Amino acid sequence: MNILSLLPEELTALLQELGEPKYRAGQIFSQLHKGITLSEMTNVGKATKEKLEGRLDCSLPTVKRKLTSALDGTVKYLFSLADGNCIESVVMKYEHGYTICVSSQVGCRMGCKFCASTVAGRVRDLESGEILGQIIAAQRDLGIRISNVVMMGIGEPLDNYDNTVKFLKLVNLPEGINIGYRHISLSTCGLVPKIYELAKLDMQITLSVSLHAPDDETRSEIMPVNKSYGVDKLLDACREYYKATGRRISFEYTLISGKNDTVPNALKLAEVLNRKLRTRTENMPIHVNLIPVNEVTESGFKSSDRAAVKKFAATLESKGIRATIRRTLGSDINASCGQLRREDADA
Ligand code: SAH
Repeated sequence: MNILSLLPEELTALLQELGEPKYRAGQIFSQLHKGITLSEMTNVGKATKEKLEGRLDCSLPTVKRKLTSALDGTVKYLFSLADGNCIESVVMKYEHGYTICVSSQVGCRMGCKFCASTVAGRVRDLESGEILGQIIAAQRDLGIRISNVVMMGIGEPLDNYDNTVKFLKLVNLPEGINIGYRHISLSTCGLVPKIYELAKLDMQITLSVSLHAPDDETRSEIMPVNKSYGVDKLLDACREYYKATGRRISFEYTLISGKNDTVPNALKLAEVLNRKLRTRTENMPIHVNLIPVNEVTESGFKSSDRAAVKKFAATLESKGIRATIRRTLGSDINASCGQLRREDADA
């Protein structure tokens, strides 16, 4: 277990068990979360360090490769973890500050046809401290403070539910990184039972749902998860999430030429969203984020042209659905949506 996976009270309990004074926990916790590793701490004795190192992995993810986009300054890290597995994280600069896109698993087992992260399958889940470690390591390397987090890297966060929830709690702690829930987005391919569970926690994070098709036939073709939880059930869960949390939902829709990008597709999408979520009695705020598909060697899918994307957005808007087209960052370093991998593919 990584030391960063411990909540303050868990670190306190462990130190007590190791015969150390309680007050040490606060000192150690806040330094760790600032990016000072245990071995670098000057106010913690050698004996304490050795005891902790005997019980826990006290390392941060290490930078195995770092690429910086010449186009927009986006930085993509290939991090290696204590067991040698690798993941990627991306830091993007916006007017309002820095956003990091973190990975939640080593690989992914969801099998979406357009996504590079799932090509080689899933190796293992990340611990909460390994998700958090990506933020700490990036802040330390760049000398910046990150203000927003998106769980949109490698992996399906709700397929690693407990560690994801613990990570959300850790990153939100005032004595730690202290990022507000409203500055965190979690993206899911639609694991319906877990959306209901998350709704019950009423954390004020933004839920992004990867929809990508308006009907079961098309969606099942490109997203195997749809065979377990179809569009109707997924939208029911979204409605419940909104009811429980009051947070609007963002739908991601990647436009693939000839697959899901026509005007009839857009009309069908507007119809199903309006029918399921915007009835006369409930008017759930929703938002569709259109992403022209980023080309991934293995998929063979082609991106829709600019005109088709604009037309798709306009069709949604004409039916009362807010739609925006996602800006692509880091395209010259394969750092865009769906391009992250657990292996060193850019070397
Ligand atoms: N597993 C989660 C988190 C990944 S988030 C999920 O599925 O939502 C990454 C986002 O990028 C998702 O919306 C995903 O569907 C989308 N995506 C994947 N491959 C893509 C590609 N090639 N082009 C554009 N978007 C892609």
